[in-house]
Amino acid sequence: MGAVQEQQTIRSDRVRSLARFQADLKSLLPPERVLTDPAELGAYSCDGLVSYRARPATVVLVESRDEIVHTIRLANRYGLAFVARGSGTGLSGGALPLEDGILIVTSKMRRILEVDPENLCAVVEPGVINSDLSRAVEPFGLYYAPDPSSQIVCSLGGNVAENSGGAHCLKYGFTTNHVLGVEVVLPNGEVTLLGGYASESEGLDLRAALVGSEGTLGIVSKIILRLSVRPEAVRTLVADFDSVRAAGDTVSAIIAAGVVPAALEMFDTLALVACEAATNAGYDPTAAAALLVEVDGAIEEVEASYAIVVELCRQGGARALRQAHDEHERSLMWRGRKAAFAAAGRLANGYIVQDGVVPRRVLSAVLDEVAELAGRHGLRVANVFHAGDGNLHPLVLFDPATPGDHARAERLATEILELCVEHGGSITGEHGVGVEKACVMLSMFTESDLAVMHRLRGVFDPNDLCNPGKAYPTPRLCGERPGVYRPTELERKGVIERW
Ligand SMILES: Cc1cc2nc3c(=O)[nH]c(=O)nc-3n(C[C@H](O)[C@H](O)[C@H](O)COP(=O)(O)OP(=O)(O)OC[C@H]3O[C@@H](n4cnc5c(N)ncnc54)[C@H](O)[C@@H]3O)c2cc1C
Repeated sequence: MGAVQEQQTIRSDRVRSLARFQADLKSLLPPERVLTDPAELGAYSCDGLVSYRARPATVVLVESRDEIVHTIRLANRYGLAFVARGSGTGLSGGALPLEDGILIVTSKMRRILEVDPENLCAVVEPGVINSDLSRAVEPFGLYYAPDPSSQIVCSLGGNVAENSGGAHCLKYGFTTNHVLGVEVVLPNGEVTLLGGYASESEGLDLRAALVGSEGTLGIVSKIILRLSVRPEAVRTLVADFDSVRAAGDTVSAIIAAGVVPAALEMFDTLALVACEAATNAGYDPTAAAALLVEVDGAIEEVEASYAIVVELCRQGGARALRQAHDEHERSLMWRGRKAAFAAAGRLANGYIVQDGVVPRRVLSAVLDEVAELAGRHGLRVANVFHAGDGNLHPLVLFDPATPGDHARAERLATEILELCVEHGGSITGEHGVGVEKACVMLSMFTESDLAVMHRLRGVFDPNDLCNPGKAYPTPRLCGERPGVYRPTELERKGVIERW
């Protein structure tokens, strides 16, 4: 049989397997939650990274762990790959479907199963929205600390998969510091609990391997989360500066003084202009840069830290300081920051949200270099980011109507990441690798590093069915750039070979 004929046979086998999968699943789950109509499937063709799109073959709206198990077992029986999706707000294409695959959507699994104020923990289903948990535990004086800017829409399952961060993760740590245990449906349909209620568990810490694995090691069906006690006092200020360098140096000075603010965010002029226009938060769009600083904790500690922050901002050359006098003013200051990505739409019709990390000490130098790179490409970059963590979010602006502009913006966005790595940083702070940065992994990790990751992944998912093609470079994704070699299905079946 010729290669073309062989490919056609594989394709028709696939179509048959898919039809059988859909029929079997509809006999196990209410058929209205197994979507196969192309018009309905189209709504799930991308996550927050809208430049990548693929229409899944089937979408399953699961409501329980057992429904995830049924779906995965059937997918295994028919050799079909599957992808988990929470709220679909991911910015690196982690929940991008596979055209001939299954999308397992957990957004209907929204029950908070248990709140234990004495042990400061809660048990939730993966589709629970981040901010809904804090709202639910507020009567106990508690909250869930990790606060991505998308917290009013993103799911806790997605947060676990991405190890999401947020403005207050500087002091309180990323999602991984708040996950005690995870129940996961493994890629073969078995269910296991990694970690538990205790803060330490015996054996290998596989919970830590799962957090941040971007849906490649299994589908999270239940999460045991640490809750935090609401701080006694909070003080928030915005400080304006005449240069980005002065603001960046003040960030380093605050941390070097031993103060760990709850949050330490930075804006440049373009970001201030956009955020102010979108929210009237009271930012000064004529400043070259601004810091949004929040300190929290016991009253005495907060007063002492706040005084140090004010003093260091003045020494750093702040031209104005505005303090929030009440909760209304504080939430206004934060509304501007939380709306930043959406506000960038006021600056340009197209923009790429980049996410990289640099050591704090080189923050100012890297921002200068980003501006220089942008000038070289003839593009503008707005910066609004978690400065305390050195987690940059350059918003690369472009005009989709100008031929070549998008491609230039993508090149610039990649060069910014390479700059981060050159300065000893990382290609992602919190948005993950997904499909977007899989090839950039090669600039940060050696082949041996990547081989170790692949081997671990292979232990969980030997058949490569769980979110394949994400988070790791493959020859298919990265052209012929060297990377860890993974044979395609046609290669595995001996239809084609690599030479
Ligand atoms: C405006 C905006 C602001 C943002 N701000 C931040 C921010 O401040 N900090 C930050 O970290 N991120 C931020 N993000 C990115 C995004 O919100 C986070 O990555 C979030 O955790 C994704 O959650 P989700 O439910 O939307 O996941 P999805 O986008 O649905 O999925 C994300 C990844 O998780 C996997 N996944 C989802 N559910 C499960 C599950 N149950 N089991 C296993 N894998 C699963 C998917 O396969 C995919 O790989 C922002 C996004 C937007 C649009």
